[in-house]
Amino acid sequence: YSQRYYNILEKRIKLPVYQFKDELIAKVLENQSIVVEGETGSGKTTQIPQFLLEAGLATQGETCVACTQPRRVAATSIAQRVADEMDVQLGSEVGYTIRFEDVSDPHTTVLKFLTDGMLLREAMHDPLLMRYSAIVLDECHERTLATDVIMGLLMEILPKRKKGSEHGELKVVVMSATLDAEKFQEYFHNAPLLKVPGRTFPVEIFYTAKPERNYVEAAVRTTLHIHQCEAPGDILVFLTGEQEIEQACEELREKSRSMDAELVVYPLYSSLSPEQQRKIFSEAPGPRTPGGPPGRKVVVSTNIAETSLTIDGIVYVVDPGFSKQKVYNPRIRVESLLVSPISRASAKQRSGRAGRTRPGKCFRLYTEKSFHDDLQETTYPEILRSKMSNVVLTLKKLGIDDLVHFDFLDPPAPETLMRALELLNYLGALDDEGEMTELGYQMSELPLDPQLAKLILVSPDYGCSSEIVSIVASLSVPQIFLRPRESAKQADEAKAQFTHHESDHLTLLRAYNEYAMIPDKERKQWCWDNFISERSMISSVNVRNQLLGIMKRLDIQVVSSDIKGDGSFSSVDIRKALTAGMFMQVAYRQRSGEYLTVKDNQHVYIHPSSVVNNRPEWVIFEEFALTTKNHIRTVTVTNVDWLVELAPHYFDLENFPKCEAKGELEKAYS
Ligand code: ADP
Ligand code: MG
Repeated sequence: YSQRYYNILEKRIKLPVYQFKDELIAKVLENQSIVVEGETGSGKTTQIPQFLLEAGLATQGETCVACTQPRRVAATSIAQRVADEMDVQLGSEVGYTIRFEDVSDPHTTVLKFLTDGMLLREAMHDPLLMRYSAIVLDECHERTLATDVIMGLLMEILPKRKKGSEHGELKVVVMSATLDAEKFQEYFHNAPLLKVPGRTFPVEIFYTAKPERNYVEAAVRTTLHIHQCEAPGDILVFLTGEQEIEQACEELREKSRSMDAELVVYPLYSSLSPEQQRKIFSEAPGPRTPGGPPGRKVVVSTNIAETSLTIDGIVYVVDPGFSKQKVYNPRIRVESLLVSPISRASAKQRSGRAGRTRPGKCFRLYTEKSFHDDLQETTYPEILRSKMSNVVLTLKKLGIDDLVHFDFLDPPAPETLMRALELLNYLGALDDEGEMTELGYQMSELPLDPQLAKLILVSPDYGCSSEIVSIVASLSVPQIFLRPRESAKQADEAKAQFTHHESDHLTLLRAYNEYAMIPDKERKQWCWDNFISERSMISSVNVRNQLLGIMKRLDIQVVSSDIKGDGSFSSVDIRKALTAGMFMQVAYRQRSGEYLTVKDNQHVYIHPSSVVNNRPEWVIFEEFALTTKNHIRTVTVTNVDWLVELAPHYFDLENFPKCEAKGELEKAYS
């Protein structure tokens, strides 16, 4: 082994979970399922999968141990860490799989970190999860949708994979950072519990006297105050998303420049490159001048640093009390990510991050009264706030027909399930009896939202599947067009070169096509000059290739409307394909100037970032963003004649939901 191996080993042995290694292995060998509850940072995620390997559960080339993570960043970052700990190359013995990225090897990988969503996808082709001898379900306290569904599936799989059964035994380790272990124990048929006590130091909590008006500004101010007034120790700041985080980082760098002690600031959010993500683990800087005050590290992070990743050396936590959460309203059938107040359980987790190495302090940017009166005790399981169309399609593919009696830990509202079935029926994925159709099978093979999957599947009929795949790939990666606040005008001018006034989708396509024609060496500069995210472009090329691979397997034709081969395309054909695929995401203009969605009569406005600014009568839209106003984002101009022609079953006058569009439609039909 390398020196690094021994250096890390020294640290590993000191982790609380290490003391429980023998007990854990004994419990796992004795039982099919066990529950592990342990403080964040006690070593669960990095160590327990390795203990299972030591217990001899995996055999190279035959079976392996899986460890699920709700977040991509956690899956990739922890896989890298564990590969380092085991002194192996990432992608050989230890690997990871996230959507559109597989860094593992069927012949050598014995331990694989993967997102919970990917494990669900794998189950579609491997219904008894035969590839695995053990599954570690991590971060179960988060109750993400996919983890909940996997738990339900395991209820069906575990009896078929008992010790001595023809399929071999499947072990399950359910891991949680908080006190909900009992619920999991009960659900997994009284699985035994292993409790790992944390080694934490006291954390002093401070509240603001008055509510803060602007939490980003307050977070920056508090951080600088800590930097100036508090003893050495690193700072962790929680914000909700990329934009806020970058803004705060910039302000912190700017405002600390004139201070005595150096401050290094690192952002942490999901769309950062792995190299940038790794920086959060680097040591705090030394003094700026010899003999001066020591430097300090600040990490400004999304929720990912709450329980998924532990950064050593944090002594101060700044907690504004918000995170981005999925919110679903089954009545209006809209799911969106909203900045919402966190729960008290989350607030406690966050403050706990300050006491890992010595006593710490947590600054909550809300009042103590608000903590007790306004915050919920725990976060509501995601399954109760999600649209279910993806899950329903997956479960149908897995042969689970009786969704109402599927053993969910917390069953979703029947209405939500009904809405999902209805949507899938309109899309043609399920027939009127609720049976999966051929189209439905194909849709479930594409790792996309059902609407986008449908869009790809109809696109060959319009002679433009090649273009549609580029568009879908561009929609599946983080923002392509960058718009930094300080150079918004230049960014807008750059975007104008690609603008197609009838469509944001076509604008994305133009940017993609231009990029694809630039020689490799010049791409970086081209992206820079055009305010385009190079990383997103690289990802979308990668995603596109993977989608093309799946299409080939499904025998879906790849045809292009670009006959000249110069990146030109037929706007009409592509907009028709978009209309045929996304007919349920349609809105029409009202006399007042706002739009109404056909599906559920929502009052919406076209988002100001859209290139469509001449207020057309009918538009299809990609997403619904609830902000101060209800916005629809990424829109394309369509028209009522196309809708009636291309989606007659949905825009059928007899069955059409009673909405104001009906008058319009009647005119179109007559
Ligand atoms: P848990 O899952 O119980 O929250 P982890 O296994 O994630 O705990 O973390 C155990 C320890 O490993 C922590 O002290 C953490 O700082 C350290 N660690 C994890 N990933 C890295 C990394 N990439 N670099 C350095 N240390 C790491
Ligand atoms: Mg963990």
